[in-house]
Amino acid sequence: MLTADRLSLNTATVKEQWNLAQCIEGCARHGLGGISPWRDKLQEMGAEAAARAIRDAGIGVSGLCRGGWYTAEGRLTQAVIDDNRRAVDEAATIGADCLVMVVGGLAAGSRDLPGARALVEEGLASTLEHARACGVKVAIEPLHPMYAGDRACVSTLGQALDICDRLGAGIGAAVDVYHVWWDPAIEAQLARAGRERIMAFHICDWLVPTKDLLNDRGMMGDGVIDIPRLRAVAEAQGYDGLYEVEIFSDQDWWTRDPDEVLATIVKRGRSAC
Ligand code: ZN
Repeated sequence: MLTADRLSLNTATVKEQWNLAQCIEGCARHGLGGISPWRDKLQEMGAEAAARAIRDAGIGVSGLCRGGWYTAEGRLTQAVIDDNRRAVDEAATIGADCLVMVVGGLAAGSRDLPGARALVEEGLASTLEHARACGVKVAIEPLHPMYAGDRACVSTLGQALDICDRLGAGIGAAVDVYHVWWDPAIEAQLARAGRERIMAFHICDWLVPTKDLLNDRGMMGDGVIDIPRLRAVAEAQGYDGLYEVEIFSDQDWWTRDPDEVLATIVKRGRSAC
């Protein structure tokens, strides 16, 4: 059971309904413990103004979504490096627990998966330097392998942790149950990660059947993920951070009254997590 103060709202969950100011007010109204903004909404409001509003609301910031996309231009361009530097700066401004990294898949027309992975590691190393100087933690989010082609060529927690081992301090993983629940090694890899490298924990549910590979995530309790079990493994490592609710759902939750969405999140935190 998760009480509302242990939950954080990833703004993607109500991205069609609310801007960031409304999300912050909504979190306060429903007693949520934190928020995790996406950069488009943050930039729209302004990072300084958002930081003030979040402070005034008395909530935490479980992450900033998202940096990465190192493979977007087929090589590590200055534009990609600079955009990730800005993401680090924004994360610092709002006091985010971490900057979440969706690292990028294959560049257009490429079949070079090992090359993409090497590029990602080079990009992460460059961002990490700036992040360490700013006191921002970098969290690699492994995505389900169905996204290896277009979003993230880091597909498992074990693969993310291998990168962390090579890059050293200040980098870890954002564990999203939607992406890792199927992995037979997930429990062992959570244990390997330990408290230090589990930097964020995202929750939602896997619907059966899933109708859309991107925008048909379920509300906790509506699918097949054993969230309490995965949470228990993370907590056995000492994880005591927020649980960030991140639901992409263009046919269901994005069409609902956002206060109903938040009320449901609070209810399901208690009954399904
Ligand atoms: Zn996530």
